[in-house]
Amino acid sequence: MSFCWKSARDPLRLLCLGLPCRALVGLWLSVAGAYADDAVRPSQPAAGMSIVFVGDIMLDGGPGHAISSGHDPFAACSQLLADADYSVGNLECVLGTGGERMLKPYSFRGAADSPRFLKKHFSAVSLANNHSGDFGPAGLVEQLQILADAGITSFGAGRTLADARRPLILERNGFKLAVLGYNGFRALTTAATADQAGSAPLVEEQVLEDIRAARSYADAIVPFVHWGPENTPQPRPAQARLARKMVDAGAAAVIGAHPHVTQTFEMMRGVPIVYSLGNFVFDYFPGDPPEWTGWVVKLTFRPGLPVDLAMHSVKLDGSGIPHPVVEEDLLPNAHGSMPTAEPPQVPQQATPDASGPSLPGK
Ligand SMILES: [Zn+2]
Repeated sequence: MSFCWKSARDPLRLLCLGLPCRALVGLWLSVAGAYADDAVRPSQPAAGMSIVFVGDIMLDGGPGHAISSGHDPFAACSQLLADADYSVGNLECVLGTGGERMLKPYSFRGAADSPRFLKKHFSAVSLANNHSGDFGPAGLVEQLQILADAGITSFGAGRTLADARRPLILERNGFKLAVLGYNGFRALTTAATADQAGSAPLVEEQVLEDIRAARSYADAIVPFVHWGPENTPQPRPAQARLARKMVDAGAAAVIGAHPHVTQTFEMMRGVPIVYSLGNFVFDYFPGDPPEWTGWVVKLTFRPGLPVDLAMHSVKLDGSGIPHPVVEEDLLPNAHGSMPTAEPPQVPQQATPDASGPSLPGK
């Protein structure tokens, strides 16, 4: 099942989409782009490239126990992750044993064997989030080394601010994609500086500067942004305003995570803006259904064509391990209700809202 937005009356307008969650099952749902029929959409492009994004990956707690027991937390979704040239996720924990635990409600340390499974399923991970600094700059530096030693590319954090802002560059079939990672949640508390490790903060001026700079060497640029209100189905108006500016600066898509729930998505002049992918591997949310649904987003780039956006839902089990949602999961249960999360909310128009929290740099 698929549809195309080419017929939109006003492509300059942010489109409001209200797709029911049940549509995002079984097969990739093609949401936008040049191909309106899955039958003619090859899974890997002959020219250009495809990339899969997933949301927050937390390898402490339940997922950590699974890994420590030898279980691959990504196994059930391995086909989804492999169904593109590249796969990228947000690693929301620290790997290693060093550093100093920060004073905060939650600090996450991934299981020791985590790199083995990350390497198996991911081309790269973003460290631009509010947990890569859970064990201070020293913990982050150790993590950077562990990932490098394991052959796992990371981006969005680094030993210096310049390192943290350096994009992930992916190349396939002569097509070059730049992916930039930024953390917008308490961004400045763990931001890298000229001489201290940290993440790349979501500072508007720097983000737009990085996107414009990447246009000189990349065919497409995707900011992967850690932002937005937690456990809330809507992004903030300030996010929509910044997303617009990123598109104006040259972003080919904007992909977000952090809120622990899926939020809304919009199209702006054919550019998809997915505000939150939700969780991918995460527990700590007993009895709160929306947190147990995540989205996997696949972007396909072909020279001269609009980016193709396809989506797939996953459902997390009690240990925080994701499983692809299939049609059978949506059969009414004994109570006659659908055992799935609420449908994605219709995005709000990006109207100015002076009362909304502002993003760093605004
Ligand atoms: Zn987060």
